[in-house]
Amino acid sequence: MELFNGRIEIIDDDITTLKVDAVVNAANRSLLGGGGVDGAIHRAAGPELLEETRTLGGCETGDAKITKGYRLPAKYVIHTVGPVWHGGKSNEDELLASCYRRSLEVARDNEVRTIAFPAISTGVYGFPLERATEIALNEIKNFLKSDKSIEKVICCCFGKRDYEIYVNMAKRTFGS
Ligand code: ADP
Repeated sequence: MELFNGRIEIIDDDITTLKVDAVVNAANRSLLGGGGVDGAIHRAAGPELLEETRTLGGCETGDAKITKGYRLPAKYVIHTVGPVWHGGKSNEDELLASCYRRSLEVARDNEVRTIAFPAISTGVYGFPLERATEIALNEIKNFLKSDKSIEKVICCCFGKRDYEIYVNMAKRTFGS
């Protein structure tokens, strides 16, 4: 599904297979790899990715750091650390929004034109998917309103259920 003049796209796919300028990794603060999408990205990129992330000194929750993509079809990986869900009163919404904003800022600063996001924090970190989807779509839309350099942002859902939640939220967020 395409939105916002084709600048936002929602797909159901494995993010490690996408030929984009950058894929975003839902990492943890160590940046040393983990499960879920983080593990999949490290496996597909190869051991050189870990060699580079070791040099970065970790990453704060809500922030983002860039590396090369190594054996991935993507040129770069932007590693961002989502909040762990603690019930919603620990600044989780703002921290998740910050992940999307900071990732897009880092992308823009590195001349990235096409970027794909997974559903940050909605796996092991337990953030409710609908709430996370609304935050993701609003942050991406607001960023693209003032930025003209990024041509396409792909929301890469993993599975049909997540895809349908994204599409339904997009209809509400974009009124189409
Ligand atoms: P977090 O710790 O931030 O919750 P997870 O990796 O556990 O990170 O989950 C984040 C999202 O990434 C979930 O929606 C999960 O289904 C999805 N995911 C897992 N593997 C992939 C993949 N290969 N491509 C795209 N999304 C993936």
